[in-house]
Amino acid sequence: MWPGAMLKEVLCSLFKKPATHNYPFVKIAKPEAFRGKLNFFSDKCIGCKICMRDCPSNAIIIHKIADKQFEAEIRLDKCVYCAQCVESCPKKALEATHDFELASLSQDSLRVIIK
Ligand code: SF4
Ligand code: SF4
Repeated sequence: MWPGAMLKEVLCSLFKKPATHNYPFVKIAKPEAFRGKLNFFSDKCIGCKICMRDCPSNAIIIHKIADKQFEAEIRLDKCVYCAQCVESCPKKALEATHDFELASLSQDSLRVIIK
């Protein structure tokens, strides 16, 4: 590129609003259909395990804890946040929240049980 043209670009960039956001100091609005950490509604679950069958990364396990009572074990470190389980659940017992800041130094904390 001719140096003069490049200089013009550099000078223009100094006065343009940046295309990036100053994350994490500035939070950005997420799209309505954003797929973050899963939520589980045990009162709706019937234990059919279709969510387990359809999960591509074996990140969700449904445990029976009593008669007609189930809990969900979700491995946040395995989940790819595709929300296939949400799509597949016939009882709308799963939802994808907008929570995505899940980084942790402890793998144990990424194994979540929801009752
Ligand atoms: S698909 Fe839905 S109802 Fe069936 S086990 Fe999973 S969460 Fe429960
Ligand atoms: S969001 Fe995708 S990867 Fe995560 S538990 Fe559901 S189906 Fe599995």
